[in-house]
Amino acid sequence: MTTASADVLILGAGSAGCVLANRLSADPARRVVVLEAGGRVTDPDMRRPELWPFIQHRDYDWDYLTVPQRGLAGRQLSWARGRGVGGSSLLHATAHMRGCRADYDRWVAATGDERWSWDRLLPRFRAMESFSGGADAVHGADGPMPVLLPGPDLVNPLVQDFLAGAESLGVRRIPDHNGGEMLGATPNSLKLRNGERVTDADAYLDPVLDRPNLAVLTGVTVHRLRISGGRVLGAEVVVDGESMFVAADTVILAAGSIADPLLLMRSGVGDPEVLGAAGVETVLESPQVGKNLHDHLLGAGNLYRAARPVPPTRLNLSESMSYQSAKGLGETAGPVDVVVGCVVAPSASESFDPGVGLGEGFTLLFGVTNPTSRGELRITGPSIEDAPVIDPNYLDTEHDRAMFRLALERARLIGASEALAGWRAEEVLPGPRVRTEADIDAFIARAAITHHHPVGTLRMGADDAAPVTPRLAFRGLEGLYVVDGSVIPSITAGPVHAPVLAIAEEFAAGFD
Ligand SMILES: Cc1cc2nc3c(=O)[nH]c(=O)nc-3n(C[C@H](O)[C@H](O)[C@H](O)COP(=O)(O)OP(=O)(O)OC[C@H]3O[C@@H](n4cnc5c(N)ncnc54)[C@H](O)[C@@H]3O)c2cc1C
Repeated sequence: MTTASADVLILGAGSAGCVLANRLSADPARRVVVLEAGGRVTDPDMRRPELWPFIQHRDYDWDYLTVPQRGLAGRQLSWARGRGVGGSSLLHATAHMRGCRADYDRWVAATGDERWSWDRLLPRFRAMESFSGGADAVHGADGPMPVLLPGPDLVNPLVQDFLAGAESLGVRRIPDHNGGEMLGATPNSLKLRNGERVTDADAYLDPVLDRPNLAVLTGVTVHRLRISGGRVLGAEVVVDGESMFVAADTVILAAGSIADPLLLMRSGVGDPEVLGAAGVETVLESPQVGKNLHDHLLGAGNLYRAARPVPPTRLNLSESMSYQSAKGLGETAGPVDVVVGCVVAPSASESFDPGVGLGEGFTLLFGVTNPTSRGELRITGPSIEDAPVIDPNYLDTEHDRAMFRLALERARLIGASEALAGWRAEEVLPGPRVRTEADIDAFIARAAITHHHPVGTLRMGADDAAPVTPRLAFRGLEGLYVVDGSVIPSITAGPVHAPVLAIAEEFAAGFD
């Protein structure tokens, strides 16, 4: 077995991994090595934001599958995860949403650490962004990541009427999603430059690749951590069929919320019962590794046949999200409970064939912002080839089911609004006959799809049971940190990419 070494070894060149590679190699005295299982992605479709739903299942997608979900009529959902330099930013829908102040209050409550508050993270968000509207107290203009707030010249006319429809029902119009309070409606801010997707590799990694103290190795699959005497010594990897060991003083897990806990379990760290059943000897008992798995679901969809041709998107199809309180459409303060988004195309789960083509319809997606259902991940064997058990346990709680019904009700209200009258020929899904609670629940179970935000599988927390400390050190092992979507204790109201970048920025700023 060949060996190599680093001061800091980052496992995964995904969203967090790209930020860490950039920030931690800024000190020329530190040798930083990044290991990535995938390669460089050159697929031209990846650049086109409107194609994002159609580039899954290609060779740069890990293409996971959940186990049958009781809450979803026994359906299994495909879970896309980027495999390549840039990670899931190769596949994501490019929406940039920080979440709201209340989300970070929950992180502070979980960790007892003010570093995770909105106010303390604000400089990190500002530092990452190059905002199309310029710098102000909330937005940054000098960061690596372009954030475009589309104006009326770019926002689809249908979406402009969706926004007017929401406003006519009392939903306030907010300038964008990133001011700390998300209750309201606005076009989505997107990570685009000149109409093209900007990946985290473009923004963070490629501009610093010429640093002599930074090496990014692709096609390197990490199989397990090597652990001895309570310390992580490095990673056992396979490159072109050859086994190798990469030693490091510090190892940072940044392989994402699915791969991180699986890698730990293969290394003997986790719930002894799960490890034993998979034939892996326990090195460290950490029963919550892989627990607390949660995700956003979206109902796909409240779908309408259009009365006139729907112009093609100039953005990413999913152009606007309106965040709302359960208390009422006009609430402007307090928690966010549900979301209704507008897609300028027919969008339906695999359960339905709505018979509406592109340009002939539109969809109001609907979902729950802060789900309380929790699931788990498990290995089934000692090898990365052994398919994991992925069980998000969707719609397990009455809270989630009730909020989902409310979200559909809100979508239908907006769909029926006068502002959309010129676009609406008929509601195709769920269809006018679906009105009773039982029918609505049955529809939701068949219509819900993932919003692609699984998080929380190595949650950070002040309590001893939390696998990761508030400073992102792995509890019980020296020399190991976890920095990516896994550590999120409870999901933010919106999409989670910007929060993941902020976690990595915050960690890097405090690392020495
Ligand atoms: C289809 C889709 C749409 C989305 N849309 C949005 C959106 O519009 N807005 C938003 O905010 N969020 C969105 N997200 C979510 C967001 O992209 C992710 O939450 C975020 O990118 C996760 O970052 P991460 O660093 O935690 O993991 P990732 O970016 O997934 O990085 C993990 C990296 O580790 C590598 N890796 C894994 N296992 C190994 C191993 N064993 N050895 C070596 N390398 C390994 C992977 O290949 C990958 O490069 C979307 C996600 C998807 C998939």
